[in-house]
Amino acid sequence: MSSADPAALPNSPHARDKAYALHPYTNARAHERRGPTVIESGKGIYVRDDQGNEYIEGLAGLWSVAVGFGEERLVEAAAAQMRRLPYYHSFSHKANNPAIDLAEKVASLAPAGLNRVFFANSGSEANDTVVKLLWYFNNARGRPQKKKIISRIRGYHGITVASGSMTGLPWNHRDFDLPLPNFLHTACPHHYRHAWEGESEEEFASRLAGQLEQLILAEGPATIAAFIGEPVMGAGGVLVPPRTYWQKVQAVCRKYDVLIIADEVITGFGRTGRMFGCELFDIKPDMLVLSKQITSSYLPLSAIVISDELYAGIADNSDRLGNFGHGFTTSGHPVATAVALENIRIIEEDGLVANAAAMGERLQAGLGELRDHPMVGEVRGVGLIAAVELVADPATKRAFDPLGKVGAAFFERGHGHGLIVRAVQDSIALCPPLIINAEQVDEVLKRFRLTLDDTYTWSR
Ligand code: PLP
Repeated sequence: MSSADPAALPNSPHARDKAYALHPYTNARAHERRGPTVIESGKGIYVRDDQGNEYIEGLAGLWSVAVGFGEERLVEAAAAQMRRLPYYHSFSHKANNPAIDLAEKVASLAPAGLNRVFFANSGSEANDTVVKLLWYFNNARGRPQKKKIISRIRGYHGITVASGSMTGLPWNHRDFDLPLPNFLHTACPHHYRHAWEGESEEEFASRLAGQLEQLILAEGPATIAAFIGEPVMGAGGVLVPPRTYWQKVQAVCRKYDVLIIADEVITGFGRTGRMFGCELFDIKPDMLVLSKQITSSYLPLSAIVISDELYAGIADNSDRLGNFGHGFTTSGHPVATAVALENIRIIEEDGLVANAAAMGERLQAGLGELRDHPMVGEVRGVGLIAAVELVADPATKRAFDPLGKVGAAFFERGHGHGLIVRAVQDSIALCPPLIINAEQVDEVLKRFRLTLDDTYTWSR
């Protein structure tokens, strides 16, 4: 960085960020050396930093900006609601119109039998709420032992104490004293990495369902409350399960009265080319968890949609105890819910779910052409979510050592080619806004290829 560079000035945003901020998901010491990329504005699929560089936001922020950046309709919806009623809570029978409308809308979109909506602010809060609802429900039902929750290795459900316990990634546990007791993890349905030699996807799915059953039996079915999973794993590296995996898992759960929680924080609202990822695999969840694309992340909001049966148990218990002792100051925030309603209107009016399916096919086909590249091990994805796993030797699937270094190099080099991606170790994830068009998909593919070649040259 030259001394003429405004970023080098002692009172620059860069210097002050380095001095005052502790960044989420960032190596703090590396940040002190590197400094921030300060994003100042965004329009459509593009964002711009304070040095004038423009990037394609290939991850839609954090898998979240469905309608793209700078959508005036969301700005207007927020401003109008701010003027009318900027805040109100939902405790003690209070309600507000946008939260009522959104609850009705989300219930109408959700899978059959899920008709009650609880609002929180983030995916993590929603998933902590899921755990508490399960515990509350099973206590109410006189089953105080039925409390354990099973998630998957490499699953991602957030970082608060309970949601972080369900997350199955080492860096979310290590030195945080997680997971808590009674949070169990079963195998990750990633065929490329975890199948036995010669094992078909179908056989692999059966083996994993069998492992889940063994775990439930070993712990005792009377102690297992629920199984939680993302229909397609996102933050764990975009892992699409075998086609029959969810059906097999669902059958095991039903057999032992284990509820199914679909965490659709990433897959919800069109990401996979369907409104919900559950539709892809015919998952019939007892709870659905939504966030991110519900407002395109313009404002924080999450929603849990629960089954009529769960609602009945919870409602009766609140009546017995005199209260449902759970809720956030900003549950059902009128501005966030107003923005969500407008965002969902745009998704529906502009056909963004169908666009995700069509543009997804183009993206997946284009990435598929990289399969012959000497550094590409696997290309995977569905709709507008994909990952390319970089390996040292595609023939043997040998990973790079140390894992993650090449992914990090790709991530940094992507910036030089005007492309923001996410590196999950050495898997490079793409998840662009749902508004992307064909020409822009081709531009993403072009920049991805340039970054790949550049990273390959560097790695030799
Ligand atoms: N669940 C899933 C599937 C996610 O991908 C995420 C975040 O990426 C979360 C939960 C946690 O959401 P938040 O970061 O809003 O707490």
